[in-house]
Amino acid sequence: MSIKENIAYIRAQIDEAARATGRTGADITLVGASKMNDAAACQEAIAAGIDVLGENRVQEMTEKLGQNAYDGAPLHFIGHLQRNKVKQVVGKVALIQSVSSIALLDEIEKVAAKMDLVQDILLEVNIGGEEAKSGFAPEEVFDAVRYARTLPHISLRGLMTIPPIAVEQGANIPYFDKIRALFVDIGEKMYDNKWEYISMGMSDDYAEAVRCGANMVRVGSAIFGARNYTK
Ligand SMILES: *Cc1c(COP(=O)(O)O)cnc(C)c1O
Repeated sequence: MSIKENIAYIRAQIDEAARATGRTGADITLVGASKMNDAAACQEAIAAGIDVLGENRVQEMTEKLGQNAYDGAPLHFIGHLQRNKVKQVVGKVALIQSVSSIALLDEIEKVAAKMDLVQDILLEVNIGGEEAKSGFAPEEVFDAVRYARTLPHISLRGLMTIPPIAVEQGANIPYFDKIRALFVDIGEKMYDNKWEYISMGMSDDYAEAVRCGANMVRVGSAIFGARNYTK
């Protein structure tokens, strides 16, 4: 299957899932997670109408930016971001999805202020409470939202999560439901029309995530094929 065929198939699945919740595929942003795929593959996905490309390593993103890999589509940063790399990301991407600490919020604010721009971000929630994963604990998210909204060079657009690796189909539905509930709860208390995105769901569970309320999914291998980690 080509990248184009994969995207068409995924779009159809997303549309079906969205319709089950009174929406359509047009309401869902499909982010192609393009890590370890070259500039040509990125351009192929863009030609096939992907909404956004997402990268999760700063060095790889910087290299591929130099090759014009993302020309024609918005770019998001979706991976773990170290504070000392913030300068290489702010202003280069439309959305930083993976803001996982107060220290990182402060650094993004500082860099964005220096560049005189407002950076759109999502807060990453560690919904499974996993030791090895970054992200705010669910009970920390309200305070993080309140704090982010005091920062003039940051525009907070929603929540992102990577749930634990599912052992069986459907295993992540309770986590997706929790994020959705948290998102709605915060939205009701905030009255902010910029509060828009729930980014959850990957290759194995994007349809489930959409049924649980996701409006942004991040799909890698189902679009680009299995990643070759031996290279
Ligand atoms: C790689 C990646 C994805 C996509 O993973 P697949 O299982 O290949 O679809 C989604 N989100 C993040 C943060 C990623 O790094």
